[in-house]
Amino acid sequence: MIAEIIINSNVKNLNRKFDYIIPAELQDNIYIGSRVLIPFGNKKELEEGVVVGIKESSEYIEKLKEIAKVEEYSGINKEKLELAKWMANRYFCNVSECIKLMLPPGTTTKIIQNRVSDKKQNFVYLIKDSEEIEKDIENKKIKSEKQIRALKFLIENGDTGILSIDLQMFSDVSLAVLKTLEKNGYIEIVEKEVERNPFLHKVITKTKDLKLTDEQQDSFEKVNASIQFGEYDEFLLFGVTGSGKTEIYIRLIEEVLKLDKTSIMLVPEISLTPQTVDRFLSRFGEDNIAVLHSKLSVGERYDQWKKIEQGKAKIVIGARSAIFAPVKNLGLIIIDEEHDASYKAENNPRYNAKEIASYLAKENNCPVVLGSATPDMSTYYKARNGKMQLLELTKRANNSELPEVKIVDLRQELAVGNKTMISRKLYEAIKNNLQNKKQTILFLNRRGFSTFIMCRDCGYTAKCKNCDITLTYHLKQNKLKCHYCGYETKPFSNCPECGSQNIRYFGSGTQKLEEQIKKMFPEASTIRMDIDTVTKKNSHEDILNNFKNNNIDILIGTQMIVKGHHFPNVTLVGVIAADSSLNIDDYRAQERTFQILTQVAGRAGRGQDRGEVIIQTYNPESYAIVLAQKQDYKAFFSTELLLRKQLRYPPFCDIILIGVSSKSQVEIEETCNKIYNSIKEKIKTKNLQIMLYKPVPAPIDKIKNKYRWRMIVKCKLDEKILFEISQTIEETNRTIKNSKNETRIIGDINPTNMM
Ligand code: ADP
Ligand code: ZN
Ligand code: ZN
Repeated sequence: MIAEIIINSNVKNLNRKFDYIIPAELQDNIYIGSRVLIPFGNKKELEEGVVVGIKESSEYIEKLKEIAKVEEYSGINKEKLELAKWMANRYFCNVSECIKLMLPPGTTTKIIQNRVSDKKQNFVYLIKDSEEIEKDIENKKIKSEKQIRALKFLIENGDTGILSIDLQMFSDVSLAVLKTLEKNGYIEIVEKEVERNPFLHKVITKTKDLKLTDEQQDSFEKVNASIQFGEYDEFLLFGVTGSGKTEIYIRLIEEVLKLDKTSIMLVPEISLTPQTVDRFLSRFGEDNIAVLHSKLSVGERYDQWKKIEQGKAKIVIGARSAIFAPVKNLGLIIIDEEHDASYKAENNPRYNAKEIASYLAKENNCPVVLGSATPDMSTYYKARNGKMQLLELTKRANNSELPEVKIVDLRQELAVGNKTMISRKLYEAIKNNLQNKKQTILFLNRRGFSTFIMCRDCGYTAKCKNCDITLTYHLKQNKLKCHYCGYETKPFSNCPECGSQNIRYFGSGTQKLEEQIKKMFPEASTIRMDIDTVTKKNSHEDILNNFKNNNIDILIGTQMIVKGHHFPNVTLVGVIAADSSLNIDDYRAQERTFQILTQVAGRAGRGQDRGEVIIQTYNPESYAIVLAQKQDYKAFFSTELLLRKQLRYPPFCDIILIGVSSKSQVEIEETCNKIYNSIKEKIKTKNLQIMLYKPVPAPIDKIKNKYRWRMIVKCKLDEKILFEISQTIEETNRTIKNSKNETRIIGDINPTNMM
């Protein structure tokens, strides 16, 4: 028998099937979905692959090699292979890259069977940059195969550290190997408390169903009908913050459980907090639930994965990639905060979890529910046009009022000589709140101290040497940092261009805000949350719990504070600069601003007292800000829709972004032109209905020493267009196959990040 095999590689030319002979002794163990090791080309090592087809004979039978080994357990089946093929086609990537998303965590190279639940407490962290390690491997500074295996595993799976026993098992090395790596400065082995079971510390009290409000009941019944009849349908649950969406999810999942089917609920990574999970735990108990997200160790993720695969957990709660959980008998998919950008992957495969959800729901005849207080323009547009069912919740479930929102014009503050980041109105409100022993949240979407430094005499601004990005000043370490590549340098007192000492620090980040607040309100306790204060030891969750439980007066933070938490004692939310997201070079700038402001405002007044929100801005007449003040989604939607229509942006079309990056300016332009001309030609010869824009440098035109260009295609996406553009990308890829300048081409459908 002959097996058709796809090789595990993201090299574009290998994205096809290869025939191999199935040796007699493996005949019984090979099925579609098997993971195998095979000899390939003149490589010494065996390559990994997945069997995608089995047949009697092959036209190349003379030249075929044999499969060398088969893994006992693969985790892949026919349905998953079909999905992987569909994805590869849609998202311009290799089938093998998509299969990877579906494999049991940590087993991309090794199969683990009997997991040991040990109490060992050694955690392993990478302490060297992955690029440096890869260089060391290339330069033969590290030679041992075992060391390389362990390091590679860590690079792929270890951003949050890995339990030493897991690392040893997954990469098949002894503790001695890890000790050597530690001695050589690659890793650190730290003793830490381990919870293999993420729910272990929980005291769970069972809660009962609440009596649904009329609006909730109505929405529940509509989705439930499709659950009971086993019909595919899509719903948008559009409900203001606190309107009881989660309560509906719980009730729907209950119905699915009764049918002995499985539910998947996706939430944005950042709001996947113990608080969120607790509500489900206390309703369904821990045996029924599996949680999947990146903060779990690989070992924990593996356990959760198994629990789903064996059919023990019938409720899967997770971030984006949990959509690939190995569920059987799917009965419902819920995507909470569906407008959140994290549902779209920004690296290959650049998939959108909402699209995968539709695919799976169709295959399994079950409903998809998208929930949000500020739905994505495209989702609401679909619902309004009857392409999906619209369910509305207009009132907060516990009758707490929506907060009162005020706008402060920062230009007037400047006019009266207020140079601080806090307007007079916000100052008074904070002071009042402190007196009343209530908590305040201050939101600013820029971290660091100053966002750029500039020479006043010649206009020189400090930029990263690797990226086209201004460096941000960080006070505590007294350093200028690049937020894209991590480059750091000492701030200068003399201008490198003209020697002048007249250097000024502009723009204000969260560090500066914290400093000013401490000066203005020395008696207040404050806590700051941004990427710089969130570390391995001091998680996002710890900071928020500290704020809540220790009744800290003021929480200062970036985007991270926006979601998931319920702070009953917060009555004031201040938005320091609403403009930062308005000024970005993206057609969704207004939509993002409206969403962020509405979500931030939703943090205020969730308890007994009515909340107050103060938005500071230099653009008080911007409709995104005015309508966020009124918390009027529908008015925002209509205004924005008109603009989108005029400018022909989604939802009136799809956008395909074709990006090229390279170390060579010449090569990048050549490559772009090849793609551009090829598509242009196809518009004529194949009658493609698309608008093609000329290639231009991306808004951030250099990152990590690689130039970045892009071109944009607007169209109504269909099979034919996808096919032709894939073809063009593949053909052009062949011409840059051996590029020394690391030239790469990517295709991205409706990207969330246009930078
Ligand atoms: P959302 O998910 O829309 O933000 P939640 O489901 O978190 O809203 O509900 C907000 C608050 O209202 C929660 O404290 C929840 O317990 C409460 N709640 C929800 N539904 C009801 C109901 N039917 N009766 C009473 N309280 C409810
Ligand atoms: Zn100068
Ligand atoms: Zn940089």
